[in-house]
Amino acid sequence: MDVPAQPKVIHAGVKRNALSERLEREVQGEVLFGRGDRGRYATDASIYQVEPVGVLIPRTFDDIRLAVDACRDLGVPLIPRGGGTSQCGQTVGHALIIDDSKYLNQVVDLDLKAMTVTVEPGVVLDALNRWLRPHGVWFPVDVSTAAQCTIGGMAGNNSCGSRSIQYGNMVHNVLGIDALLADGTEGHFGPLAGMPTDDSRLGLIVRRLKEIAAREHDEIARTVPKVLRRVGGYNLDIFNPQSVRPYTPDNRPNLAQLLVGSEGTLAVSRQLTLKLAPLPAHKMLGVVNFPTFYQAMDSAQHIVRLGPVAVELVDRTMIDLARTNPAFKPTIERALIGTPQAILLVEFAGASRDEQVAGLRQLTELMAELGLPGSVVEMPDPAAQQALWSVRKAGLNIMMSMRGDGKPVSFIEDCAVPLEHLAEYTRRLTEVFHKHGTSGTWYAHASVGTLHVRPILDMRTSGAGLMRAIAQEASAMVREYKGAYSGEHGDGLVRSEWVSWQFGPRLTKAFEDIKDLFDPLGLMNPGKIVRSTRMDDTTLFRFKPGYQALPFEPALDWSAWNVVGDAATQTTSGPGTGGDPSHGYAKAIEMCNNNGHCRKFDAGTMCPSYRVTHDERHLTRGRANTLRLALSGQMGANAFTSEEVRQTLDLCVSCKGCKRECPTGVDMARMKIEFLYQWQKQHGVRLKDRLIATLPQWAPWAARLPWLFNLRDTVPGAAWLSERLLGFSARRSLPRWRRDTFLRSPHARHARAADRATPAQDAGNVDVVLFVDTFNNYLEPENAHAALAVLEAAGYRVRIARADPADAHKDRPLCCGRTYLSAGLVDQAQAEARRVVQALMPYVKRGVPVVGLEPSCLLSLRDEFLVMGLGEDAQALSKSAFLFEEFLAREQRAGKLNLPLKALPQKRVLLHGHCHQKAFDAVKPVQEVLGLVPGLEVDLVESSCCGMAGSFGYEASHYDISMRMAELSLLPAVRQASPDDLLVTDGTSCRHQIQDGSGRQAQHVARVLERALLT
Ligand SMILES: Cc1cc2nc3c(=O)[nH]c(=O)nc-3n(C[C@H](O)[C@H](O)[C@H](O)COP(=O)(O)OP(=O)(O)OC[C@H]3O[C@@H](n4cnc5c(N)ncnc54)[C@H](O)[C@@H]3O)c2cc1C
Ligand code: SF4
Ligand code: SF4
Repeated sequence: MDVPAQPKVIHAGVKRNALSERLEREVQGEVLFGRGDRGRYATDASIYQVEPVGVLIPRTFDDIRLAVDACRDLGVPLIPRGGGTSQCGQTVGHALIIDDSKYLNQVVDLDLKAMTVTVEPGVVLDALNRWLRPHGVWFPVDVSTAAQCTIGGMAGNNSCGSRSIQYGNMVHNVLGIDALLADGTEGHFGPLAGMPTDDSRLGLIVRRLKEIAAREHDEIARTVPKVLRRVGGYNLDIFNPQSVRPYTPDNRPNLAQLLVGSEGTLAVSRQLTLKLAPLPAHKMLGVVNFPTFYQAMDSAQHIVRLGPVAVELVDRTMIDLARTNPAFKPTIERALIGTPQAILLVEFAGASRDEQVAGLRQLTELMAELGLPGSVVEMPDPAAQQALWSVRKAGLNIMMSMRGDGKPVSFIEDCAVPLEHLAEYTRRLTEVFHKHGTSGTWYAHASVGTLHVRPILDMRTSGAGLMRAIAQEASAMVREYKGAYSGEHGDGLVRSEWVSWQFGPRLTKAFEDIKDLFDPLGLMNPGKIVRSTRMDDTTLFRFKPGYQALPFEPALDWSAWNVVGDAATQTTSGPGTGGDPSHGYAKAIEMCNNNGHCRKFDAGTMCPSYRVTHDERHLTRGRANTLRLALSGQMGANAFTSEEVRQTLDLCVSCKGCKRECPTGVDMARMKIEFLYQWQKQHGVRLKDRLIATLPQWAPWAARLPWLFNLRDTVPGAAWLSERLLGFSARRSLPRWRRDTFLRSPHARHARAADRATPAQDAGNVDVVLFVDTFNNYLEPENAHAALAVLEAAGYRVRIARADPADAHKDRPLCCGRTYLSAGLVDQAQAEARRVVQALMPYVKRGVPVVGLEPSCLLSLRDEFLVMGLGEDAQALSKSAFLFEEFLAREQRAGKLNLPLKALPQKRVLLHGHCHQKAFDAVKPVQEVLGLVPGLEVDLVESSCCGMAGSFGYEASHYDISMRMAELSLLPAVRQASPDDLLVTDGTSCRHQIQDGSGRQAQHVARVLERALLT
């Protein structure tokens, strides 16, 4: 195959300063030209990485006009960008990146009569559909990245959703685009009949386009694939439609549809008018379980005849991977009958419930006729459907969670073939993978013959060569089956060279003519669609030849990531065998594949700092990219412990939201501990951090002299001084120290009374060990009293955890080490953790559960304790450590809880889950135990992080961000609650934040149960 010549890229390295100075002078938006920012915008969800000239976050479209003028004057290319979730490298290039997702995201007009909405390009699809919902309509191009992708980006890529069989692709749903060309021309692109044909610049473009279309009329019919899913090249076939679905009702061209799929190479969209659809009133989902993959593929052609709106595939590998993800496991298991090799999700939707029920019945009958009776799991419940769709939508991300350097690579992942060939195509391509010593996982749009598959390749070694070899064999099959080589994700850097293969020399030339017509200087996203680079140009790869992490001795154990993957069997070698010079830390960071899932604003926790700043830098992805570049020497010498990296991690509140919600398991909270450790080694520990970290050591003094330690909030000027000298916000009250600590109370002594023997002797007489953390001991002892009272009322013999008699500091209370970890003082945290393990092992060995109250403390026994070199004892302890409510809920489920409770005067509880509870799926037990109180209704606030996050919110530099996080959803919900409602949250800092932000007092769940005890 002939590879096209190199593009006319205008190199702009030397122009960087001039451009940034001019933008700084002229625009209102954010001008980001620093090394870190350029690094964060050098990638998207593809395998490529090219450092841009700089980044502009425009505040208004005027900023874009000014930037386009500046780029033209200086000869610098530009690339518009939305969420940066493209898989083919569409948003990667040596250019000015214009990210319109932060400010240009408004709905401009809604016309329900015409069923249209007009929006700015940066609006996110889910946000738009949330906004539209009350009007009973939606924009139905439901791509998997709906929570992140912008309408501008979707139009740029001609995106397609799971329900495209019903609604079509973007090209079928965009009615008009107002756009700016690189020469400064602006105009409305819409139905051809309404476009100018005069001597204006726009008129000339229209006339010339008509000429090109007329010239190529027959060639279009000859070469453009006649399938729904064809997104490669420019949509020249709007002049001679080839899609199986009409582009317009009367088949007359609409020039907005030529801009759709143009990947930012022709114009920048200013606003887009979209076609709406009524929200379907009823949906039914049938999950068909198949004993073989082939049968699933072969059945698709029959199933689509029943008129479903979606038929989506999930294969065996993905089912297994979903099962390993705690967030997805229960959902996927509900959909299975036995151990199928593949499942198809078949959805029926529309206005009539009866029709959808009938559809589901016909599906069951059809499967029986096809020899698979009893293979359909019926899911009429919308919540269950929604949950399963989110597993399917996370398909790619689930796949990317494979560890090791071999990763599923996107380059033939969306070829579309006619349905009758699907089974053969997938069988033959699987053989091709095996021949090349690799394998692939299949999923997605069986309804339209576009199955996603990514063979596993190691792009640092043999990947480039294998990629081309496999692409050549796959493309030959696509041609044989008269399919489309690019059926969903577009061209970008990975597939633009295939445009001439797909469309032939004449249409390739026509595409170049179109490009030159719109953008004669070649400034708009050069090298995409026409005049491309090669897909396997390794200089453009994220992992270029020679890429290696710098040698580095981590403080925590990252060996689980330091493995080698086997592409053929999709298995990995043992921990620590991967040869990573950073012992697994770099490989853990490299797990981020840039898919952008963390850019979400809907339910869940991740990523609170992004939710308030909307900055790529304060996003899990931005942090992971920064760490990766720094650790691999791409940001200069000693970059890892640089101020740039420190600031990039500064607003990470260590909520662990990403640990659970990032589909590839990027655990930034743990990465931050490692970073802080390395940072302290080089720069020393700041006084404020040391004060916070060592709190468990000086807390006994504060308890002896509480009046002294509480002076800061009573003496005028002291708060101001603490801000000036230590950085604690004067706008915050600090927690109040108490003399009546729990561990010195008679109550606690009573629970320790029988504890004269050694723990080993005592363990046999105990049902539960209560681990009272520093905060609940010194600051809110009533919580520990309440927990003890509840456990004893339920008949458990309780011991209070205390240091082992052989402990060198046996009189000091036990501490999980959380405060040390938050300052990166891993050695001290490890020493504390060792004390805890030593003290609790006698109980653990006897199977006695360890129960704690403060989520961030107790859950560190299940998390950080496992990576601090504490051996198998820590593993054993982690399995015996429970939050108070987890323990009670577990007992209740096992029918062992005997806790008679009475009704309370309050009838409703508003519950806020601590982030670490959410990360460990431990909010439900709080709901369960509160539900034991007769007549108590429990409402969970859909909140992300409260913003306090340990000491984060107390720091003056974080105060505003902290309050903005709280104001996202938590504080408004608290303010709306009735004064009679109870407020419950288990986190000590969450309670403080609620008090500071609303003046209301929240309680630990133990206190609610204590008040409901029948005494
Ligand atoms: C896990 C995962 C799942 C995916 N699933 C799907 C799927 O189901 N269906 C699907 O079609 N795609 C899918 N994609 C690809 C991608 O998410 C979509 O193409 C998405 O619509 C891109 O939106 P974005 O805002 O991220 O655009 P970006 O990636 O930022 O940009 C996309 C293109 O649009 C151009 N562009 C952006 N803004 C403008 C503007 N204002 N004017 C002109 N051009 C502009 C850019 O230059 C670029 O060429 C998936 C990607 C991932 C990582
Ligand atoms: S951090 Fe996780 S969710 Fe965010 S882009 Fe990377 S892989 Fe995706
Ligand atoms: S720990 Fe929380 S704040 Fe930090 S990156 Fe992860 S989700 Fe974002």
